[in-house]
Amino acid sequence: MKKLVLVLGDQLKADSSAFNHFDAAKDEVIMIESEFEANYVWTHKAKIALFLSAMRHFAEVLKKKKYALTYVKQSKLSIVSVLKEHIQKHHFTHLVCVEPGEWRLRKELQDLASELQIYLTIEPDNHFYCDFDEFKEWVGDKKEIRLEYFYRYLRKKHKVLIQEDGEPEGGQWNFDEQNRKPYPKKGPGQITEPKWFTPDAISKEVMTYVESTYSKHPGELESFAWAVTREQALLALSHFIEYRLPLFGAHQDAMWTNTPFGWHSILSTSLNLKLIDPKEVVDSAIQAYEKKQVSLSAVEGFVRQILGWREFIRGMYYLDMPKMAEDNFYQHQRKLPDWYWTANTKMACMKDAIQQTLKYGYAHHIQRLMVTGNVALLAELLPQQVCEWYLAIYVDALEWVELPNTAGMALFANGGRFTSKPYVASGAYIKRMSNYCESCSYQSSKRYGPDACPMTTLYWNFLINHRAEFEKNPRTRLMTANLQKIDAEEQLLITQHAQTLLNNLENI
Ligand SMILES: Cc1cc2nc3c(=O)[nH]c(=O)nc-3n(C[C@H](O)[C@H](O)[C@H](O)COP(=O)(O)OP(=O)(O)OC[C@H]3O[C@@H](n4cnc5c(N)ncnc54)[C@H](O)[C@@H]3O)c2cc1C
Ligand code: SF4
Repeated sequence: MKKLVLVLGDQLKADSSAFNHFDAAKDEVIMIESEFEANYVWTHKAKIALFLSAMRHFAEVLKKKKYALTYVKQSKLSIVSVLKEHIQKHHFTHLVCVEPGEWRLRKELQDLASELQIYLTIEPDNHFYCDFDEFKEWVGDKKEIRLEYFYRYLRKKHKVLIQEDGEPEGGQWNFDEQNRKPYPKKGPGQITEPKWFTPDAISKEVMTYVESTYSKHPGELESFAWAVTREQALLALSHFIEYRLPLFGAHQDAMWTNTPFGWHSILSTSLNLKLIDPKEVVDSAIQAYEKKQVSLSAVEGFVRQILGWREFIRGMYYLDMPKMAEDNFYQHQRKLPDWYWTANTKMACMKDAIQQTLKYGYAHHIQRLMVTGNVALLAELLPQQVCEWYLAIYVDALEWVELPNTAGMALFANGGRFTSKPYVASGAYIKRMSNYCESCSYQSSKRYGPDACPMTTLYWNFLINHRAEFEKNPRTRLMTANLQKIDAEEQLLITQHAQTLLNNLENI
């Protein structure tokens, strides 16, 4: 029976499990560029260009392997509509695909298969350390689902930074105390640039197409220099390991103006498109540690992100969908302010994070969590609109990784299903971790009044509103203890000022 293998735009892996039983003599492959996919959220131009360029480069890889490939360019239809026409026209009876990174697409493929009465094989994704069944088994009937224990489980299972006696390397699982420092007072100093790639002919053609077809979409392409092939992704990886990993951990949470990338790896796009595998990334980092090129704290901090967070987040996505997309624990309903799309806000921290996002399609984890995410939660924004923004605006955004991070981590929209507390902070945190407040027209320490920092006012307002809930939780009790130091009169002024801000979000 002749099979049709569907390769989606984020499945650019030549040894993907979609090809497990592929017979190049009779089976065929299809790849589809769909304008519908770029439009169902208002996607950043760089994200569209990255996906299309990487797909076209991957098509060349498949052609070199002499696979029978149908590559559909620039279709106005959805992926599933194109697929339906193709299957009917060529009388395929068996469709094969790797687990899609979007629940919606999995469902649409299943519906298509039953409508056309064809076999559908959805292969588990061999890119990841942990498949969904294993994750589900690990979750079992646990009352609390926490990253830390899952991370330890995977480290033990895959013998990553584990001593011969079974204990963690260096005797501890976590080096957060050495990691997560702000930059020195004078600033980050000289940071070695990430590895960038000048767009080749394929990328340039794609960029011209994106500029004309998606001219009204957010973001810009002037700085487009992402890895679009496996070879480039491997170069970016070795560059990171050699020059940037040594200081990754220490300044993982630090922020500074005109420092969009810090010491971060900038590997999420290559990982998410499957140009490189998490195992090769983790192995390279471990090798650098074994050769004494990086410290244990730096390597552990990095491995935790890939082997820990990335796998954990993916497990949670499949475990909790479709409910995860609908959750709204706090019943927040406010509209996303326009400045999330334009950076036209007076808050220096938000302006910086959004401006760099429009320029590159990138902001690092703490900017996403503690700046744009924190403000979204404190400003009581509708989680579904916030999640759409994150999905649209980041070059590495795929629903399986974006949604749990945004709805689950940043917005607490699932009521803390896998986090122990809402990630809320006042301007004091931003002041400690960055230099943003120095150039801001607001004052981070002021809780109310015209020049009070909106993050600070909204933070205290949030604590006042959720005091009872915060007091019940040992992880947040300390925050409300600080609230007791603010007298009733000042609390009233805070809530009144917060209300003014909330009614006037477009202008803060
Ligand atoms: C609100 C919010 C939304 C996010 N949306 C996305 C998204 O759409 N796509 C995405 O890939 N990441 C997302 N993240 C996670 C993280 O911010 C990015 O993976 C990271 O900033 C990418 O930059 P980097 O490659 O330089 O990462 P580094 O800081 O160098 O980390 C190394 C790698 O670890 C992985 N990683 C780190 N943290 C996480 C995490 N929390 N979840 C999953 N993987 C992680 C990534 O693959 C990353 O490349 C989001 C985080 C938050 C708080
Ligand atoms: S003062 Fe407030 S709004 Fe301004 S940069 Fe600092 S935290 Fe952000």
